[in-house]
Amino acid sequence: MSSAAPATAGSLHEQDPDVAYVIQREEARQRDSVMLIASENYASRAVLEAQGSVLTNKYAEGYPGRRYYGGCEFVDIAENLAMERACRLFGAEHANVQPHAGAQANMAAYAALLEPGDTVMGLQLDQGGHLTHGSPVNFSSKLYDFVSYSLDPETELLDYDAIERLAKERRPKVIVAGYTAYSRTIDFERFGRIAQETGAALMVDIAHIAGLVAGGAHPSPVPYADVVTTTTHKTLRGPRGAMILSKEERRRAVDRAVFPYGQGGPLMHAVAAKAVCFGEAMRPEFATYARAVVENARALAGALEAEGLRIVSGGTDNHLFIVDLRPMGCTGQEAEAALERVNITANKNAIPNDPQPPRVTSGLRLGTPAITTRGFGVEEAQRVAGLIVRALNHRGDEAVEAQVRQEVADLVSRHPVPGIDR
Ligand SMILES: *Cc1c(COP(=O)(O)O)cnc(C)c1O
Repeated sequence: MSSAAPATAGSLHEQDPDVAYVIQREEARQRDSVMLIASENYASRAVLEAQGSVLTNKYAEGYPGRRYYGGCEFVDIAENLAMERACRLFGAEHANVQPHAGAQANMAAYAALLEPGDTVMGLQLDQGGHLTHGSPVNFSSKLYDFVSYSLDPETELLDYDAIERLAKERRPKVIVAGYTAYSRTIDFERFGRIAQETGAALMVDIAHIAGLVAGGAHPSPVPYADVVTTTTHKTLRGPRGAMILSKEERRRAVDRAVFPYGQGGPLMHAVAAKAVCFGEAMRPEFATYARAVVENARALAGALEAEGLRIVSGGTDNHLFIVDLRPMGCTGQEAEAALERVNITANKNAIPNDPQPPRVTSGLRLGTPAITTRGFGVEEAQRVAGLIVRALNHRGDEAVEAQVRQEVADLVSRHPVPGIDR
């Protein structure tokens, strides 16, 4: 044995107990809590295995068959599989599966469609848009001139007529649809018509709803959009990462915008895990999963509403919704902390035109992708609603919090987590 071998030959547990401890505790946290963060999910054992594989050792700058490194024959197969499966899954003409994350996919999509200084239209951020849709602290607003459209203040729904009027007035080069906190079906066909009539390109960011689109539980933007970006780790239930779908005629612009404009070598272990994820999403069980995610969201929202809370826009058509906590005299910040104490994980979220600052907020964003993956159905979703209401009504009461924590433990113990328990 060479003298260098022993130092790196051991398992993680033997070699670095500090980091091994973190992973072990995080596994337990994910198993033992009710995860309602709308952007999170549990990846399968197969996805985790691909992402934790030796493909992490490989440099593969470029695209399959056109690499800047030797030894790419096997990673080429992985990337081709991921691209072919993505195109089949979403009915797209081209897929770039290299973006490291959703923000990088959006950066590349903008670069493929815009020059610095061009005008882009996106949803106002505190109403459900993403940082990369023009936040003042994000690259997007430094490089491009963002114009915001807003939700109808009465219905809290997208107001397509107002969006059309604004597009006609401001003539953006790109219109962005797709959100982080909008609970209603998005009319992509209407967005497509608005873009066409005003000479804009349509970019749709389905980071949140990609799994619902893949499973047929939300209409697809692919027929109407010039470019579609998505993460792969939210409702799609794959590895942390992203991709860009486009028409064939945008292939060159999109590919060059990802590499070499925005990124260097692709993360081939993540690309292989994306291929696994797309393969999983093509199975009939995934359509059943996507439908169940929406049913559970409706059940959870309905039960909270029945307890006197207000759901922004009156309900949900997808995997998430925003609860307006004001009827309970509770802020988003307080609610997030109270739920954390009973092992229910969620995030505070602004409601439209929120009177509270972003650090506090008046709302809570709840999503059902993760609990549905571990097999919760409508009955369990309704039980979760009851636990949330008790934890919030009695926040700070240690006896009640202990009871709720016990009920959470009881509930999660009967629902093993894919990727952890098997
Ligand atoms: C999550 C999200 C992103 C960004 O994804 P990251 O992988 O966190 O960079 C982009 N757009 C929308 C709409 C999102 O919800």
